[in-house]
Amino acid sequence: MLTTTSVKLHLGAAGYCTHPEFLTLRGGSLRPVAFPAGFACIIHPVHGPILLDTGYSSRFFKETAHLPNALYRHITPVVYREEDSAVHFLARLGLKASDIRYIILSHFHGDHIAGVRDFPQAQLIYLPRAYDAVRSLGPISAVKAGFLSGLLPEDFDARSLPVTMQAERWMRAGEDFPFSKVCDIFGDGSLLGVDVSGHAEGMMGILLSTESHDYFLCADAVWSSRAFQEQRRPHALAGIIMSDRLTYRRNFDRLVQLHQQFPAIRIVPSHCREALNAWGTGAEEV
Ligand SMILES: [Zn+2]
Repeated sequence: MLTTTSVKLHLGAAGYCTHPEFLTLRGGSLRPVAFPAGFACIIHPVHGPILLDTGYSSRFFKETAHLPNALYRHITPVVYREEDSAVHFLARLGLKASDIRYIILSHFHGDHIAGVRDFPQAQLIYLPRAYDAVRSLGPISAVKAGFLSGLLPEDFDARSLPVTMQAERWMRAGEDFPFSKVCDIFGDGSLLGVDVSGHAEGMMGILLSTESHDYFLCADAVWSSRAFQEQRRPHALAGIIMSDRLTYRRNFDRLVQLHQQFPAIRIVPSHCREALNAWGTGAEEV
């Protein structure tokens, strides 16, 4: 087992957007491909159900009804039905929104935080650098950074639980783990936050273990499993939306290395349809 305390994991997606494949995968086609807005419900033995991100929600459409935010929707057309929401997904697991005490935010792009307001009781866990990078942006810069401030609740600061990364050498079966900045989120070895910046400043992935498998939920460090399996970086054009291309490349290479060193770890990019179909529920309709 990769971690010291096992959890249960349910992978889902709330809506999807479409992009031409070549943007996200070098050598890909011009045809539009659906990218599910993935999220995870992690059942912790002590803290109960926890969300990692939320996918889209109807709030996203309210927030992008007018310019300049409407640009976001034009650039990434979104398909979403109310029954796709994280709240509905949880209901199918027998859970209520009020059961969620924590939401981990991998980063602050709209397709990851759009459902946060649906969970008024949850405390919000994230890397301070991720929020600092977007909190003071003006309206145009915020849209360019994929951030819609209206998606966050008014009491966001009061409910925030920022976490910090420690630079540490982390070994597994005698081999160095390729990512060096790790954070034990609850201090019990169950959920390990990993700095995977580059796509967005302060982006955090999560390492966890269920009773049967190890997982690395790597947020948007890659858009699809094929990217690290076939070592295909996104098109240079996709660099426009990245916070730091050099860091993106470094973390991309680390992900490739992780996959080669530890092929049994199930790497789950937020927007990978294959990974969601293989190991999750709720993405099959996409
Ligand atoms: Zn993103």
